Amino acid sequence: MVMLMRAAVVRTFGKPLTIEQVPVPVPGPGEVLVKVKASGVCHTDLHAVDGDWPVRPTLPFIPGHEVAGIVAALGANVTNFKEGDAVGVAWLHDACLRCEYCESGWETLCEHQHNTGYSCNGGFAEYMIADAAFVARLPNHIDFAEIAPILCAGVTSYKGLKETEAQPGEWVAISGVGGLGHVGIQYAKAMGLKVIALDIVPEKLNLARMAGADFAINAAMPDAVPEVIKVTGGGAHGVLVTAVSTAAFSQAISIARRKATISLVGLPPGQFATPIFDVVLKRITLRGSIVGTRQDLDEAIAFAADRKVKAVIRRAPLEDINGVLADLKQAKVQGRVVLDMAMGVSTNRAKSEPSYV
Ligand code: NAD
Ligand code: ZN
Repeated sequence: MVMLMRAAVVRTFGKPLTIEQVPVPVPGPGEVLVKVKASGVCHTDLHAVDGDWPVRPTLPFIPGHEVAGIVAALGANVTNFKEGDAVGVAWLHDACLRCEYCESGWETLCEHQHNTGYSCNGGFAEYMIADAAFVARLPNHIDFAEIAPILCAGVTSYKGLKETEAQPGEWVAISGVGGLGHVGIQYAKAMGLKVIALDIVPEKLNLARMAGADFAINAAMPDAVPEVIKVTGGGAHGVLVTAVSTAAFSQAISIARRKATISLVGLPPGQFATPIFDVVLKRITLRGSIVGTRQDLDEAIAFAADRKVKAVIRRAPLEDINGVLADLKQAKVQGRVVLDMAMGVSTNRAKSEPSYV
């Protein structure tokens, strides 16, 4: 008998997801079946649903790559987990483990990788398949909804901060105080950095201060750049750009100190102009940063387990996904919305669904 589960399915790019009954997947060799307890909604899910990026997912698909749950069944040859273990599933679903990138601890750059909720079905469902070699172990006492955002927002902002090479006591500017940025601020403080946060939404600046930022500045104000330069005494030693705006990428160069490294993490579609003179004369490093390795993920989880980092979350039922994506698109989400699979159908479902397109 085929077991069925609820899932939020993308059938057409840019259209509301449909809540459907689909078969519970069966884990193959090396895979585990995860019973999803909580699934964070990342802006990447919105890019996926809208088909924003050069390589689009194959339709239909189930998004979601910030997953916390428990192992419900083991495929053949899985020895590192047992049923009932608390686990996290991240964007990096699997990689080949044999190429030059995998062999040098850069599995995030593997050309043969698959991505959760993009090229493989993800966590906007009651169950999902994960690769046992890429599943993270979660502390047993943890609240699933609270830890879920660490599986992407946490590890990505933590890795992005490491990639700025900013040292304890130095300034890091974090542009974009969304899901990634608000935990990024907490990682930066825990790493001994001074933080100046930028966003264009006043509520996000309050969130930045709550999260521990030393300064929070409205990036849209005409004096934003001189203000950052003044506060940091010459510009930030490192800049982490998580903003979903190409303007923020250009601004990052203006607020960087001489010799700074700018870690580019946000993925708005498009390009930004790079002023050659500034980059050359200030010896600036522009560096892309993509999620984090399994080692980065374990470290990012450890910060959260130690209560040094705690995502600000709002819980929502799976059925609210279209309203949540609409809020994310309009920068109305404070912190992260986490789909909590234990929650029933929300009463405002009818209200929130049509607002998304
Ligand atoms: P989010 O929507 O929660 O947050 C984005 C924030 O950017 C919002 O607070 C918004 O107000 C702010 N913003 C918009 N314009 C701005 C501007 N000009 N200056 C400063 N802030 C501005 O999104 P999120 O979930 O935090 O994701 C952010 C981006 O990071 C997305 O593009 C996502 O796809 C990408 N991402 C990248 C990776 C990676 O590995 N590189 C991983 C996860 C997410
Ligand atoms: Zn993500």
